[in-house]
Amino acid sequence: MSILYEINEETLQDLINLSVGLFNPLKGFVNRDDYYSIINNYSLSNGNLWTIPITFDVDEETYEKSKTAKNLHLTYNKKVVAQIEISDWFEVNSQKDAIKIFRTNDLKHPGVSKEVSRNKFRLAGEPEIIDKSILLNALKPTETKEIFKNNGWKTIVGFQTRNPVHKAHEHLQRIGLEVCDALFINPLVGWKKAGDFSEEAVTESYKSMIENYYPKDRVHFDVLKTPMRYAGPREAIFHALIRKNLGCTHFIIGRDHAGVGNYYGKYEAHELVKTLKKKFNFGIELLLLGGPYYCTKCKQIVTEHSCGHNGSYIKEISGTTIRKIISSGKNPETEIMRPEILATLNNLKSEIFIRE
Ligand SMILES: [Zn+2]
Repeated sequence: MSILYEINEETLQDLINLSVGLFNPLKGFVNRDDYYSIINNYSLSNGNLWTIPITFDVDEETYEKSKTAKNLHLTYNKKVVAQIEISDWFEVNSQKDAIKIFRTNDLKHPGVSKEVSRNKFRLAGEPEIIDKSILLNALKPTETKEIFKNNGWKTIVGFQTRNPVHKAHEHLQRIGLEVCDALFINPLVGWKKAGDFSEEAVTESYKSMIENYYPKDRVHFDVLKTPMRYAGPREAIFHALIRKNLGCTHFIIGRDHAGVGNYYGKYEAHELVKTLKKKFNFGIELLLLGGPYYCTKCKQIVTEHSCGHNGSYIKEISGTTIRKIISSGKNPETEIMRPEILATLNNLKSEIFIRE
C-alpha cells in the first residue's frame, strides 16, 4: 500500500539534490539520529561532517498513515515524481533546535521563521525518482566534474553568492583566479527572503561580468537551486560541501557568509571552520578571506589585511548596501558596482527584487 503526498517546491529541490549527489554523503532525508547528531555535533551519526539537517516534513495525517503504509508516492503539481520507503518517523521542536542551527530562535530571522513554519512531523528515507524529467535541468556533480576535466582544470575555486556581482565580490573572485586554475561562480537561486535580488538579476549581472571582464576560458557559471537558510556559519560549511561534491577543490568563505541582519559576527563562519578543522576532514580547501571595501585613501578595493588606514576611509560594499541604494531609487557609485552591471540591472525585463 502506498499513499500519495503533494510536496512543495523546497522538498522537490531537496529530492533532486539528494538524487544527483549534491548532498553527498546524504542519500536521503535524515533520520532522528542523524538529525540530532547534525545539530549537536556538526556530523552525521557515522561521524561524517555535515551541518544542515535535510528533512522531510509532512502533515500529521500523512505521518500517522505512513506508519502502516511505509511507502509514499510524492506528487508535485499532482504528478507523481518520486517514491520513498520510510525508514524513520520523528518529531522536531524547531523553536528549540533553531538555537543550535541558527544560533537564534528570533522569529524575525528569515531562516528561523521559515523552519518554524514547517510541520514538526518528519519522515526519513531515500527517495527514488520516478519522473526523471525533474532532473533534466538540475545542477549535477557528474556534469560539472566533466566540464572541469574537459577544460583541463586541476584546481577550481567555488564561489557562492545570492547577489549581483559588485566590486567586493569581484575582488574575492580575482583572488580565486590567482590561486586556482578556474573559478566556478555558483549563485544560489532557491527560496530567498522578500527583498533579496531575483534570480534573473543575479544571473544577468554575471553574464555581463563574464562577457566584459573575466577570462571566459577560466570561468564557469551555473546556478544552485536550494533554499537560502541564512544560517551563517553552519550554512557556509554546507555551501562548501556542496561545492566539493560538484568538483571544486577550493571554496571562498568571506565576511558574514550566508548571514542576515546582525545575527552573526563578521567572521563567525571562519571561526567555526577553524574549530571544526581540528576534528573533521573537509575534503576541500577553504579560502577564509577578509571582507573587501573601497578605501577612499588607497583609492581602491582593499581589506583590513591590505589597507593601512584603519578602516577610517571606508565605503562599505555588500549585497545589503547595494539593495538599499537601488531600492531607494539611487545608483551605486562606480567604486561599488561597475556601470555595465548597473545598466544590466536597470534594463531587466522582470523584477530586480523578490516580492513579499
Ligand atoms: Zn586604505
